[in-house]
Amino acid sequence: MLDLAAAHGAEQVSFVADPDTGLRAIVAIHSTVLGPSLGGTRFRPYASEEDALVDVLRLARGMTYKHAACGNDLGGGKAVIIGDPATSRTDALLRAYARFVDRLCGRYLTAEDVGTTQADMDLVRTITPHVTGTSERLGGSGDPSPATAWGVLHAMRAVAEKLWGTPDLHGRHVAIAGVGKVGRSLAAHLVDAGARVTVADVNASAAKALAHETGVEVVAPDTVHAVQCDIFSPCALGAVLHEHSIPELRCAAVCGCANNQLATDEDGDRLAARGVLYAPDFVANAGGVINIADELRDGGYDRARAWQQVTTIHDTMTRVFARAESEGLTPAAAADRLAEERLAAARTAAQPS
Ligand code: NAD
Repeated sequence: MLDLAAAHGAEQVSFVADPDTGLRAIVAIHSTVLGPSLGGTRFRPYASEEDALVDVLRLARGMTYKHAACGNDLGGGKAVIIGDPATSRTDALLRAYARFVDRLCGRYLTAEDVGTTQADMDLVRTITPHVTGTSERLGGSGDPSPATAWGVLHAMRAVAEKLWGTPDLHGRHVAIAGVGKVGRSLAAHLVDAGARVTVADVNASAAKALAHETGVEVVAPDTVHAVQCDIFSPCALGAVLHEHSIPELRCAAVCGCANNQLATDEDGDRLAARGVLYAPDFVANAGGVINIADELRDGGYDRARAWQQVTTIHDTMTRVFARAESEGLTPAAAADRLAEERLAAARTAAQPS
């Protein structure tokens, strides 16, 4: 276990098992170099504890890069609760989890993630202040998804500027895979911006309902990546860009909200070799964490200020593309470098002189 944590560069990994409630959870703090670690709580029926540990370590590291690249003064952390939320979730279990988070004394701030809800975070808030993304009536910023979609829209504007010399998305064709909380909000923004939008979802009724509301076109989920379009936008699962899907792409760029879109590092090179511009996922999808970070500012959450800050994703993405071009890197490698430089500078500044 310690070797795994060390291999992922984690600062601290904490485990809890509470026989009274059945809680089994792990918090991984990857880095507090830029500030307290912040990342969501994933509630999943992992096949084994090792699978859960590997996932939480990988996700916590991803959060370090996401916060560093978007300018948040926050570190990377993540938590997993092992179990099926449909059958294991009880208020008592979540309270036990909240006490566990509280014992970390603010080195880890939690939030909603896959398998947990805003209502769960509201419950956690009754036990510990070290939680974000609670409902607005409790001083939180609420569901991060609309801010994430707003950020992806601005990432797409940077893509458009790089490829076509203008951030205007009017007349551009975007194919979105997954119209859940983020995807459907993104689709609405794109329709407002005058783009042509095609969507797909394994939940056919979600895609159909969106088509009914906004007039977007619908295609099958297994063909959406191959739609002839300007931008393909993965907004469902990770690892959708791989050796089999990349040759089938018929887009000029990929820009979406899904985490970990590249199945392997080599897939960044594969995209570049096909001449497809890749907008690195952790830069494009940082709107949610930029929005949440605003809760921690003096005076508390200010939605207008937070959403203004989310638009800086355009500039960050532009810097990533410029860096990639000037240093002969893929955009994914350039984004990593940007984040790593900020972390290195903070480490140097923190050293006693
Ligand atoms: P969600 O669960 O609300 O929506 C995902 C949608 O994708 C669902 O409608 C689902 O039916 C659909 N889907 C699943 N498999 C699919 C497939 N193979 N093809 C097409 N559609 C499929 O999730 P969300 O909150 O919208 O997040 C989407 C992605 O973005 C996730 O990978 C998430 O980790 C990432 N993300 C979300 C946020 C946020 O603020 N919600 C922030 C950063 C990253």
